[in-house]
Amino acid sequence: MHEEATLAGRGAVVTGGGRGIGAEIARSLAAAGVQVVIAARSVGEIEQLATALREDGGRAWAVPCDVTDEDSVRQLAADANARLGHVDILVANAGIAGSSPLHRQSLDDWNRTLAVNATGTFLCVREFAPAMAQRGWGRIISIASIAGRTGAPYISAYAASKHAVIGLTRCVAAELAAKGVTANAICPGYVDTEMTKDSIERIMSKTGLGREEALASILATSPQRRLVEPDEVAHAVMALCAESARGINGQAIGIDGGGFLG
Ligand code: NDP
Repeated sequence: MHEEATLAGRGAVVTGGGRGIGAEIARSLAAAGVQVVIAARSVGEIEQLATALREDGGRAWAVPCDVTDEDSVRQLAADANARLGHVDILVANAGIAGSSPLHRQSLDDWNRTLAVNATGTFLCVREFAPAMAQRGWGRIISIASIAGRTGAPYISAYAASKHAVIGLTRCVAAELAAKGVTANAICPGYVDTEMTKDSIERIMSKTGLGREEALASILATSPQRRLVEPDEVAHAVMALCAESARGINGQAIGIDGGGFLG
């Protein structure tokens, strides 16, 4: 058996890292000695987290970025390379959600959802992957969703955007397979973050249900009748970063308590 190589000293970029799942991933990477650039639009959130991680002995920097903007993603790469020397790990986590019955799905919302979740992931992967391939080591991990593997009512734009993330992941994995770079997607069910709180508010306002009932309708989608915790997603990211995970490539890994077994 090989001894597991440490991740300490590797460089990582986490998009959407200011709160929720991304923040938990940034904390886990920093705790493992990985140097982390945290990117999102809300400057206050990313700076607060980077400061907290540095106070805990980690090496972390905040870089404002809108993943839908090609120039902004280019600038993120330039700033990240300047800070880290090289980026070995990309966690493409930035995302937005929404819901609407198909006949009321506006083109604006559709375009916005695709722009952040699908195009934003593409722009980041396209920006960071070549240098990983050149260096012969890399981990590209996109936070998709169980909605990237199956459909459900009222989430056509979100599900389409997450299916796109998984399709992109499979192609990148195939393209870079011989270069020491892996690309995988993680597909959580509902996670206990602001995004899910917003979903509960939306259900309440659209259906007239109370908070408890709205939450129950969400929990009914989970065989374990619970929300996933952000640290469960972070744990999967850390596992995929390990040297011993080098054979796991092009996968869409569910963290949903067994809801989608196909
Ligand atoms: P949050 O809403 O808590 O956080 C989303 C993060 O993405 C924020 O940091 C936000 O920062 C950032 N973001 C949004 N738009 C952009 C943009 N255009 N450019 C850069 N950053 C952006 O969501 P979660 O932590 O819950 O979700 C994280 C990821 O996990 C998303 O991709 C989501 O789809 C996915 N996911 C979430 C699930 C859930 O139930 N919560 C379930 C399955 C998947 P800012 O707004 O400041 O830019």
